[in-house]
Amino acid sequence: MREVIPIEFTERQLKIIDIVKSHEPITSEQIAKMLKVTRATLRPDLAILTMSGILDARPKVGYLYSGNNPINLIAERIKQIKIKDIKSMPVVVDEQTTLYDAIVTLFLEDTGTIFVLSNGYLAGVVSRKDFLKNIMGGTDINKIPVGLIMTRMPNIIVAYPYETALEAAIKIIDHEVDSLPVVEKEKVQGKEYYKVVGRISKTNLTKVLVELGNQ
Ligand code: ADP
Repeated sequence: MREVIPIEFTERQLKIIDIVKSHEPITSEQIAKMLKVTRATLRPDLAILTMSGILDARPKVGYLYSGNNPINLIAERIKQIKIKDIKSMPVVVDEQTTLYDAIVTLFLEDTGTIFVLSNGYLAGVVSRKDFLKNIMGGTDINKIPVGLIMTRMPNIIVAYPYETALEAAIKIIDHEVDSLPVVEKEKVQGKEYYKVVGRISKTNLTKVLVELGNQ
């Protein structure tokens, strides 16, 4: 379970973790002996490892490995869930689609966000608020295409299929958006474009939470 260990740990701290894992309970004297260092040298390492919850220090018993506790296992599981496994179908329209037709799509597909394509590649995003803003401003929804009101590239926050659910959740929170287009990069005549292969929304992430809670 090396994956639960943050990479900031030093080589010696990782060695200590391995020793404790296979020899628990083990005293600091015994660890020091195995590493051929003094107990004083080990003290800061052991302090860091117990404070970060990797090791458990029991008086008169020694050190125990606690990296397998339920919280760590849940954290580990969350990091294993990939976007490609939880994404849903994207709702897309071409940039020439009128606001009226895009709003109809929003209702028919029961979604809050539509991804806008230009020549089949990601060009922008339109959300409920974008439509409301334009309707309130008196825009003629039968004439204006979504391409004129969308949030456009390169300002679109995207997710990749190989990223984790946790990474998607962090992007959604950091950028205060409801969903992310899941994309794959494609090169056309030396230029990079995004093919939209899915959608990750707060709903997908909530489902993950429910699944974890039910396990
Ligand atoms: P809502 O309009 O339902 O509150 P959002 O909070 O997702 O939906 O959208 C707020 C704004 O952010 C809108 O202007 C929308 O165009 C934009 N937006 C939505 N998703 C993204 C994204 N993935 N990347 C960049 N901008 C986005």
